[in-house]
Amino acid sequence: MQSIRKRLSISFLISSVSAIIFIILFVNITINSKFNKYMIDIQDKRNERIVSYFEEVYKRDKKWTGNSAIEIMHEAYMSNYCLTLRDSNGNVVWGMDPSDIRNTNHFSNMNMEDSGVYVTKNFDIVVDGEVVGNVEVGQYSSVLLTEEDLEFKSSINKSILLSGIGTLLIIIIISLYISKQLSIPIKKVANTSKRLSRGDFDAKSDTKSDIEEIEELRESINILGEKLKNQDMLRKRLVSDISHEIRTPLNVLQNNLEAMIDGIFPVSNQRLSSLNDEVIRFGKLLNNLDVLKKFEDESINLDFKEILLDEFIIETAEDFYLEAQNNNINFDYNIEKDKTYIIHGDKDKLRQVFINLLTNSIKFTNNGGSIRIDLYKKDTKVIVEVIDTGIGIKEEDLPFIFERLYRGDKSRQKIEGNGIGLTIVEKILSLHYANIEVKSSEGNGTTFKISFDSAEM
Ligand code: ADP
Repeated sequence: MQSIRKRLSISFLISSVSAIIFIILFVNITINSKFNKYMIDIQDKRNERIVSYFEEVYKRDKKWTGNSAIEIMHEAYMSNYCLTLRDSNGNVVWGMDPSDIRNTNHFSNMNMEDSGVYVTKNFDIVVDGEVVGNVEVGQYSSVLLTEEDLEFKSSINKSILLSGIGTLLIIIIISLYISKQLSIPIKKVANTSKRLSRGDFDAKSDTKSDIEEIEELRESINILGEKLKNQDMLRKRLVSDISHEIRTPLNVLQNNLEAMIDGIFPVSNQRLSSLNDEVIRFGKLLNNLDVLKKFEDESINLDFKEILLDEFIIETAEDFYLEAQNNNINFDYNIEKDKTYIIHGDKDKLRQVFINLLTNSIKFTNNGGSIRIDLYKKDTKVIVEVIDTGIGIKEEDLPFIFERLYRGDKSRQKIEGNGIGLTIVEKILSLHYANIEVKSSEGNGTTFKISFDSAEM
């Protein structure tokens, strides 16, 4: 296996080396061909100049002599080309020896395909419309390059090569930097997840990255860590809560029974029935845990039917009027008119949801308070809100109230309950693909908002 840093650096390097080689070849070939074309143009102009030189000489002398080429001969030797002058009959008037200009060393440096092969070109010399002779220009390459030309060409090639090497170095530095930028935060996130897997739930990845995906990864691993920490806390709390819930009635039973056996307490009907209450409380807890287990296994069978939620709420609310009245709580509902509220659901299970929510509202609302159920529609959702003006929920308890056996603030433990009601509510609603949210302010009240999918077409 390779590290992300190594893999990235190698990929960067391979792709940039290939790109640079391609660019160097391309630029080199283009410059060479343009340069040769430029040299051929210059050569053509030179040939024109030679022809017009001989025309001038003929015009001046009216004939060819052995001296006709004397002025241009020097240039021809210096520039490595060979001239042969013929008269109109094709007889050589004057000529240079091609072997005199052959400088193998220089030609081999030219690097032309045909360097070393003697090529000639013939041009007629025309004076007053009459061909008076012919000049042959010969050279050992289709393009003649001087030492300076060759130097120029090789310096261009060197610059291309140097800029290629320079670019490569820059790319290596950039690729090392980029791969480091990618690999370091990923490594840190990996370390954090390793620590989390070892049970160190305080592990956090603090190094921010300006790369979106890595930053998302970092944030989600931190959220995961936070959740694991909470789950761990809840698990510990659950164990201690369960043992507390079980130990309390057991202790009461044990102490009372022992006192009766020792004759400290007389065995009376009243005492026995109070002990029986403890056993019943104990049984209720086990029953609730059993119900919860069923929902958690999702082994529960739901009987989905069309439900008119407005009728259903009115019906369910009726069961709570009396209890609310007994607690001096004002109880009401508010249903937006002229709308239909059809959803799909299991009536019995949904009744359980509202029973749990309303029981809590009554439990946690003081005398003189009020409870209201609102029903309305928003887009494709049917929304029910259970609003009370009760004691509210502490902000730090809010994220946990749907957890198993979670009970708010210890002081509320005076109020009867076992922290299972809302867990069941959430499970039932999730089986209905409905969503529940809670808003609460301590001392002012609590609102539970449920959003169902409307079953209307
Ligand atoms: P229980 O009511 O048996 O304690 P629940 O799961 O029904 O368990 O509720 C969990 C906790 O959420 C409660 O202990 C309480 O702190 C808080 N809670 C739920 N409903 C309300 C409410 N309407 N007002 C204030 N607190 C509430």
